[in-house]
Amino acid sequence: MTAPFLPMSFNEMKRLGWEQLDVLIVTGDAYVDHPAYGTALIGRLLESQGYKVGIIAEPDWKDPQSFTRLGRPRLAVLINAGAVDSMIVNYTANKRPRRDSISHMPDRACIVYTNCIRAAFKGVPVILGGIEASLRRLAHYDYWDDKPRRSLLLDSKADMIIYGMGERPLIEVIDRLNKKETISSIRDLPGTVVALKPSELPSGALMLPSFEEVSQNKAAFNKAFSLAYREMNALRGKPLAQPHADRLVLQLPPALPLTTEELDRSYDLPYARRWHPSYDAQGGVQGFEVVRWSITAVRGCPAECSFCSLTMHQGRVIQSRSERSILKEVERITKDKEFRGTISDVGGPTANLYAASCKTWEKAGACQNKQCMMPEKCPSLKLGLDKAITLYRAIRKIKGVKHVFVSSGLRYDLLVKPEAQEYLRELCAHHISGQMKVAPEHTQDHVLRLMNKPSYKVYE
Ligand code: SF4
Repeated sequence: MTAPFLPMSFNEMKRLGWEQLDVLIVTGDAYVDHPAYGTALIGRLLESQGYKVGIIAEPDWKDPQSFTRLGRPRLAVLINAGAVDSMIVNYTANKRPRRDSISHMPDRACIVYTNCIRAAFKGVPVILGGIEASLRRLAHYDYWDDKPRRSLLLDSKADMIIYGMGERPLIEVIDRLNKKETISSIRDLPGTVVALKPSELPSGALMLPSFEEVSQNKAAFNKAFSLAYREMNALRGKPLAQPHADRLVLQLPPALPLTTEELDRSYDLPYARRWHPSYDAQGGVQGFEVVRWSITAVRGCPAECSFCSLTMHQGRVIQSRSERSILKEVERITKDKEFRGTISDVGGPTANLYAASCKTWEKAGACQNKQCMMPEKCPSLKLGLDKAITLYRAIRKIKGVKHVFVSSGLRYDLLVKPEAQEYLRELCAHHISGQMKVAPEHTQDHVLRLMNKPSYKVYE
């Protein structure tokens, strides 16, 4: 049965006839039942597999009861800090507390929430996911401490990190727990990170410089990062092992990208597209309006800008939803009484890479020694601009839609290609809400080269 919202209180659980949750999700964000929010996406997906899922959002970490109000879950607790790393939520780039922050999130939220859950529910598997855990899965440089930190898995004492986009590994791990496997026996699942004893090192794993080495030696840090970066390939990547004192952190290769059908399935679920009613009294959830009428059409980005975390999270392989699924979502939106006719975005990390493809992605994943877009677009990268134009036109025709904007960023070096002129015309004529979002990032070519961005001449 599909609940109007995933429950946030014991009373809601009772109304659904549930005595116990299968899976509890703890998140630093508010619960908005909309696919732009990872917690809703993951929660609804688990629900569609028949699991009873409840949410504790923005818990008060100083109050143990705020973690226990939905009771002990049967299978696991999933923890994420939210859509943004908690240190970025709480501090400016000058390392001062954000004065404008309305966040209830503690610093290093994944660690704090895991400690609270461990204290509340001894023996329940704890799995971390989301951007904070994903990007801190191995020893990593921490801007706030200005030095390398250990894998978040060890600092938090969680059982597992699911990195990248978590649908595929998460369903599998919950199914396996449901079949009575223990969390400590699940050590082979792509898209996960687990901790082992050194004697348990699996054969074929690539050894990275240890945490102790990368802390002392910048060359060792760079080596560890570049090895991990090169193995971000679901089809050819090797497991990576990184010693941390007497423990080994094992990162399995990335999970396979979702097929169009699988991606559609995640977005076709019956989201309420509203905040949970418990936020009504406080006037709702700040920031929701920005994404409320937006559509995620695409995931992944093959551009490899060197300052961007996307390659290490979503990967380089483009995954696009079908036109059918997107049109169905727009039709559902038009039935909403509060919809005024504007679809604010049809996008993703890079909007004009919707439906882009490369035959190598299917056979072997993205190339290890060659870039898809730098210094020039690889001839094998096929843009899906015709499909994007057809999609935009079809959305415009849906009754109740007055405007369809593309507000996600656009890769401008692709827009100036001769083959993109019809797309660019269509975009400018119908889909720009005021300013087209392009990101030159810098004006100096020697800096742009380091950022792995095109020359400023292309922008001009
Ligand atoms: S062939 Fe070209 S587009 Fe395809 S993965 Fe390799 S570099 Fe990227």
